Amino acid sequence: MKHFDYIIIGSGQAGVPLAFSLAKHGTVAIIEKKHVGGTCVNDGCTPTKAYVASARRMWDAHHGDDLGIEIQKPAKANLQKIKDRKDSLVHTSRNGITKSFEENKNITLIRGEAHFLNNFELEVDGEKYKGNKIFINVGARARIPSMYNEICYHTNETILEITEIPEHLIVMGGSYIGLEFGQMFRRFGSQVTIIEHNTKLIGNEDESVSDAVAEILKLEQIEIVLDAKDNTVTQNDKGQIIVSHNGKKITGSHILLATGRIPNNDTLHLDKTEINLNDKGYIEVDDYCSTNIEGVFAIGDCNGKGAFTHTSYNDFQIVEDFLLKQKSKKISDRITTYGLFIDPPLGRVGMTKKEAQKKGFNLLVGHKKMSEIGRAKEKGETLGFMEVVIDADTKLFLGACVLGVGGDEIISGITNMMYAKQPYTVIKNAVHIHPTVSELIPTMLEDLKQIESE
Ligand SMILES: Cc1cc2nc3c(=O)[nH]c(=O)nc-3n(C[C@H](O)[C@H](O)[C@H](O)COP(=O)(O)OP(=O)(O)OC[C@H]3O[C@@H](n4cnc5c(N)ncnc54)[C@H](O)[C@@H]3O)c2cc1C
Repeated sequence: MKHFDYIIIGSGQAGVPLAFSLAKHGTVAIIEKKHVGGTCVNDGCTPTKAYVASARRMWDAHHGDDLGIEIQKPAKANLQKIKDRKDSLVHTSRNGITKSFEENKNITLIRGEAHFLNNFELEVDGEKYKGNKIFINVGARARIPSMYNEICYHTNETILEITEIPEHLIVMGGSYIGLEFGQMFRRFGSQVTIIEHNTKLIGNEDESVSDAVAEILKLEQIEIVLDAKDNTVTQNDKGQIIVSHNGKKITGSHILLATGRIPNNDTLHLDKTEINLNDKGYIEVDDYCSTNIEGVFAIGDCNGKGAFTHTSYNDFQIVEDFLLKQKSKKISDRITTYGLFIDPPLGRVGMTKKEAQKKGFNLLVGHKKMSEIGRAKEKGETLGFMEVVIDADTKLFLGACVLGVGGDEIISGITNMMYAKQPYTVIKNAVHIHPTVSELIPTMLEDLKQIESE
């Protein structure tokens, strides 16, 4: 039995920084069954945002004329080259982390799948390990409903390996992952159909956001099928995928399953421990990422308290702070924020309008269309809008979204105000750079409408 002060299972977005932090205080083993860096680096944020950037170049090539630039057509996407660029970014990041592990004398990288033997002991490929403290950072994977067992399908991992552009990509699932892949492959040249069982795209968002996103995608001739609950899926002897819905048949060359994520906790043999799971398979944690077993923590997507790189990294910060006996950071202080990296992107922070109304707030709502914003017009990118939701009593921001050019960056201005707990009047009175999209936030705040709670 090898003994370490700290054992981290999974080298994800919380595990990696935690390893370097803990190595200042003792010996650390970090166990990884696949690629160092986890989902974000290898099959999530980095590769998809690299593809989104290539897809944007393709869009620029097709829209030069709009701004008076004559670009010879047809522009062609070379998926092999797009993938090579993505692989280079991924490998640089993955290898950089691995090298830093190897150079740290207090960190041991163990390759293989970890299984619990009891609360503090683990087994990896027949070797046994004991830790004084254990940190579970095993992330999540694509959820594959059993109806797809008989066909060849892609997940976010496998679709990033193909080198030929699909003729017709069917995307099952109209949320973040499905929409990003759908738009990028449409821009690469595929015909794309997005099939969503809900009555709107990105179910958590306000209707106005979902509708605007659907309009943006439809402008690029992406077919969207909503409310598609009772599908059947088959594959014919030519390898084509046929999705049947309401008497309609959609025939594709490839199918991508973007039908949600499930935590990897089922790989851990948690039945050998006393660690509690909730009914959705997430490890139960308190506000400090601590499980019901003192000294065992669950961080990142596997605790169900977030599903993003920034929430996972924040879990690391919370645990680090907890171990330093400060307890100044906690999960419940975190404000929800995320991006949907279609083009133009959506940046969201805090509550949607609907959520705020349901919670009984008296609201002030500000709304501005991108088509009314000078800088957006100059750029020729006028799709989308921005909206803020403010508590009329305290004047504090409850939430905001910016769907439009630069939306993923602009939203941070409101996020900072929410963390600083400052009233909206601070931004209203601030002087911003002209000409920017952000400078219209103060203008929007001068024209707020009162809305009653539900
Ligand atoms: C297509 C896609 C795009 C995304 N885009 C974004 C984005 O733009 N922005 C954003 O914020 N988030 C994005 N995400 C989400 C983000 O990638 C995850 O939230 C983040 O990576 C979660 O990190 P984590 O720390 O929980 O673990 P992960 O990064 O998932 O890492 C977990 C690691 O644990 C390893 N592991 C699992 N089981 C075991 C075991 N038993 N033993 C040993 N090792 C094990 C896995 O191999 C993996 O390396 C995206 C996700 C996907 C799928």
